[in-house]
Amino acid sequence: MDNASRAALASLPKMDRVLEAGPLASLAVRRGIKRLAVDAVLGELRARLLAGESADVPDAEGMATQARARVDAWMTVRPRGVINATGVLLHTNLGRAPLGAQAVTAMIDAAGASELEIEMDSGARGSRLAWIRPLSRAVLGAQDVHVVNNNAAALLLACTVLGGQAGVALSRGQMVEIGDGFRVATMAGAGGCPVVAVGSTNRTHLRDYEAALEDGAAALLWVHLSNFRQQGYVAEVGLAELAALAKSRGVPLIADLGAGSLGEGLPPAEPTIQSYLDQGADLVLCSGDKLLGGPQAGLVAGRAELVERCRRHPMSRALRPDKVTLAALHATLVAHAADGVPDLPLHAMVAADPKDLAARAEALCKSLGWDPGCVRTAQATIGGGSLPGDTLPSVALAVPTGSVSRTARALRLGDPPVVGRIQDDTLLLDLRTVPPQSDAALLTALRAAQDPAKPA
Ligand SMILES: *Cc1c(COP(=O)(O)O)cnc(C)c1O
Repeated sequence: MDNASRAALASLPKMDRVLEAGPLASLAVRRGIKRLAVDAVLGELRARLLAGESADVPDAEGMATQARARVDAWMTVRPRGVINATGVLLHTNLGRAPLGAQAVTAMIDAAGASELEIEMDSGARGSRLAWIRPLSRAVLGAQDVHVVNNNAAALLLACTVLGGQAGVALSRGQMVEIGDGFRVATMAGAGGCPVVAVGSTNRTHLRDYEAALEDGAAALLWVHLSNFRQQGYVAEVGLAELAALAKSRGVPLIADLGAGSLGEGLPPAEPTIQSYLDQGADLVLCSGDKLLGGPQAGLVAGRAELVERCRRHPMSRALRPDKVTLAALHATLVAHAADGVPDLPLHAMVAADPKDLAARAEALCKSLGWDPGCVRTAQATIGGGSLPGDTLPSVALAVPTGSVSRTARALRLGDPPVVGRIQDDTLLLDLRTVPPQSDAALLTALRAAQDPAKPA
């Protein structure tokens, strides 16, 4: 270390002086939190000096300003809303399905004291799910429905309860890995239920399942290939055929559907909960925040006696959803119960007419003074583990910029934050995933990102 760095290190202001400087002193936040922020700022500066980098050493006031910025960032209400201009309707990193206004209202109503577990008629203790069960049964067309935190929880619960120590049989061709390195087979077995792999990656036959049952498997598991497709020399046993086998052997068939489409207003290629039940699945599992268009939740739908066994298992207590989640789910189910296409943001995104998207894009382009060539046709995807490879025709704005990555970052860090998609070195803002009422905010964000005062 040179003398200048040594002198700079020695001149670093002391903690107490930084805490007492104006920017931090005026902040009504616990001292321990301010201290952590100062520690972080001081620590980084010290590390740079020790590494021999030259760095300006601020005085106590300057240091307090930097620490204050950290505390402010930590304490900003998060997660902030963003404009999803990725063209991926169910974007896992952006919170999957946007909730409908009716679901948001229901969450606010339920946030205080609510009738969560009380029978209002008698005043006796009630069940947390009693008020959601009749509607969920009716909308899903199932004998009974149980609700847990997410589909992973539904899978864990159903396999633990029905597979027990003996295990569930699952085709190697259906050993799906979902996001973030999580694998369906591992989650299914996380409660101690062995997952018996049957068949090969590309071909599984009925006799493979039969052999697993003869070896003692207590249930069959079917997993929908929600995020990939197999082609070529492939064979899998159909769901109905597997259900017939399960029935003849007296074991339950659990079917992990993933996205949980109810059909109305959604691409017909995606299997529905009803179609899985009709084909003979005893329990169908799905997410609440994929094609159902609701909050993060897991639904276990099917035969009453099996659903009841899941509900009664001690694990259910650990997997139970929060009151605001249940409120949002109920409101989402109400939207599904209404005639026609449900009035939900997901369904509006699916239904958007490319002509309307083009008109919006042209209006934005004009307001921004961009070349009309910035309006491009694009391909949106549903995402969220549904319809792999399928696209919806869409329209995007190609943002004119010298630096795609810098402009994309400026938009992400803007107010409101905008997340686009980079494709072939072009920054695209796909309007299918932007609700029309956000166009004005999008325009503001684009102007700010272009503003030379705030270089993009
Ligand atoms: C998405 C998905 C899951 C996980 O659902 P979460 O609600 O995210 O826990 C499980 N299985 C399949 C087939 C899926 O597509």
